[in-house]
Amino acid sequence: MSSSPQIQIGVRCRRCSKFRHPREFVGGPYGYCLRCLEKHMAAMKMLEGGVPYACQECGITPMEVCERSGCDDIRMEMHYRDGLYQFLCKPCGDEYARKRLDIYEKTPFALRRGIG
Ligand SMILES: [Zn+2]
Ligand SMILES: [Zn+2]
Repeated sequence: MSSSPQIQIGVRCRRCSKFRHPREFVGGPYGYCLRCLEKHMAAMKMLEGGVPYACQECGITPMEVCERSGCDDIRMEMHYRDGLYQFLCKPCGDEYARKRLDIYEKTPFALRRGIG
């Protein structure tokens, strides 16, 4: 009995770093995988005011932020994350910035938030 090795045919998306089937890419292997394209398009639509803002990580809307923690600060942020523009709520934005101190460390943004 020999177990055949798992062969993974895939191209690593340069944006989300996930392996995807080559057919799942738009614009060739250096373009977007379909998931990333979806996220990108959603961010662009939000920018145009086409769809209501919602955090692209946890899905919270400014309305819900308001209900949960008061309406003092319901800003959503645009982060350039995984090679894509994405709207994130503040906690998700902070979490991302903390993981990416290589780019955020010592920036006014990070210092203001006390994350590096
Ligand atoms: Zn991707
Ligand atoms: Zn969020």
